[in-house]
Order: sequence, then C-alpha cells, then structure tokens
Amino acid sequence: MFDTLSDRLTSVLSNLRGKGRLSEADIDATCREIRIALLEADVALPVVRSFIGQVKQRAKGAEVSQALNPAQQVVKIVNEELIGILGGETRRLNLAKNPPTVIMLAGLQGSGKTTLAGKLARWLAGQGHTPMLVAADLQRPNAVTQLQVVGERAGVPVFAPEPGNGVGDPVDVARRSIDEARRAQHDVVVIDTAGRLGIDEEMMRQAADIRDAVQPNETLFVVDAMIGQDAVTTAEAFRDGVGFTGVALTKLDGDARGGAALSVRQVTGQPILFASNGEKLEDFDVFHPDRMASRILG
Ligand code: GDP
Repeated sequence: MFDTLSDRLTSVLSNLRGKGRLSEADIDATCREIRIALLEADVALPVVRSFIGQVKQRAKGAEVSQALNPAQQVVKIVNEELIGILGGETRRLNLAKNPPTVIMLAGLQGSGKTTLAGKLARWLAGQGHTPMLVAADLQRPNAVTQLQVVGERAGVPVFAPEPGNGVGDPVDVARRSIDEARRAQHDVVVIDTAGRLGIDEEMMRQAADIRDAVQPNETLFVVDAMIGQDAVTTAEAFRDGVGFTGVALTKLDGDARGGAALSVRQVTGQPILFASNGEKLEDFDVFHPDRMASRILG
C-alpha cells in the first residue's frame, strides 16, 4: 500500500545524506518535498500540516544542529513523528473486568466487517480467549450465512437469530447474545452490525441502539484503507453518529495510496487497534505504529 509514499520519502531523505550541516533552506526544501509526498498519498491536509509543522520545528532545533549526523537525525525525527500520527504506542484491547468483554464492529458495507469479525475471533481464540461471534447484521440477506461460514473457518461459534423467525431485531439479537455468552462461558463477544454503502441515518441509529443495549467495552470502527480521502468523512460520521473507541484498518494489502491509514488516527482522535491485509483469516494483526512507520520509511 505505501510503496509510492515509501519511495518518495526515502529518496527525499537520502538527498540529505552526505551533507555535514543542514541549512534552514535544506530543511525547508526537505519539508516541502515531504509535504508533497504526503498529499499525493492522500493524507488529510490537517494531518499533513501538523506533521510538517512538527518536523520543521524539530529539524531546525538543537537536536539536529548539534547532531553528529544531522541527516540521520532528520530521518529519526520523521520516523518519530510518523509513529506519532499513527498513535504512538500500541493500544491493547480493553477487556472487561467481568466477562464477557463486548466488542462491537461498525462501518460501511464492504469495509470488511464480517471478515474482520472472523479474524478477530480467531486471533482472540489464539490468545486463550473463548470468543463468540454475533450476527447482528440482519440487513443483508447473506450476512448471517457469511458470518456463519467465517465462524466455522475460525472455529468460533456464531450466535444468530433462529431461522424462520422473520428478519429479527438486531438489537434484541445483540442483547440476547450477552446472556448466551454468560451461560456458555464465552469471555469475549464480537458483534457484527449492519453497514450500508454510504453514510445513512438509519444505519447509525441502529448501531447506536445496539451500542446502548450492550454497552460495549470496545466499539471498533472498521474502515477500508482503500477508500482514500473518503475514509476521513466516513470516520467523522461514525464518530458523531455512533462513537467508537478504536479503529480496525482493512485492505492494507491494496494498492491505494495509504493516506486514509495515515489520517484516521489524528482525525478521529481514536487509536488504530488492528490491521487487516488480505482476505484470509490469518491476514490480520495487532496494529503497531512503530512497525508501520518503519515499513513506510523503508
Ligand atoms: P462487510 O460488508 O463490511 O461485512 O465486508 P466483508 O467482510 O463482506 O468484506 C467485503 C469484501 O472485502 C470481501 O470480498 C472480503 O473478502 C474483502 N476483504 C475484507 N478484508 C480484506 C482485506 O484485508 N484485504 C482484501 N484484499 N480484501 C478484504
């Protein structure tokens, strides 16, 4: 995903190499190039502005002018600031003191929620948890079956409305799933909710109703990193309509320019917890800002 950005940044920074001292003009020129590279990668403008502001201020300060190798010091600053916009520290999942921990997934249709639910459940099981998946996406005809398939692959049970009872009420399904988890001793419940193709009031209201009914320990906003600048508007709409405590980025294996991934943390103020980079259940990991920054800087 970050190939072009990575090439650009590496080449801009390598231009500094070999320079004994860096003049203000060198730093200004470097920051200008970095700014262009970030904008071309679709990083949101406010994020680019604050990033460049920080890099410039630090690069013109004592940590660079007094460094033995100023160019290397600038690379270090860019790396640290990248880690910063990606969230700094790795943020762990919030687990409930009294199980079950309730994790609700929200996001647009096609963002990868159902796939992510399976990945997350499989990962949780690998961590020694006893998760259960909940099909509260009753909008799409195939959503329940799709979650059941994913659950089977992940080896994780799925709580779904009984067939033949009509469409069912997603709020009721979500509420009942918590009782079932207590009864069957599942310590984590992952609730898949309905998405729409675009931002939609009805979808937001339903997600908010489910949230109120189950009081999740985590609400994860699932966002497709391939949607570029739209990710920012979508994230803001979900923040205002449902609210979320963390982000799960999907489709990082795509060839989009990656700006969404770099913007979403700062724009929403919420940390990225998980990253998904493929269609298979194992294409999933905890999100580490430092590793992502190293990947971008090559
Ligand atoms: P939902 O509508 O939000 O539940 O989205 P789905 O889980 O059904 O995913 C939509 C499509 O994206 C499916 O074809 C998935 O296989 C695909 N998908 C999900 N996550 C990833 C990912 O990380 N990488 C790629 N390449 N495809 C993904």
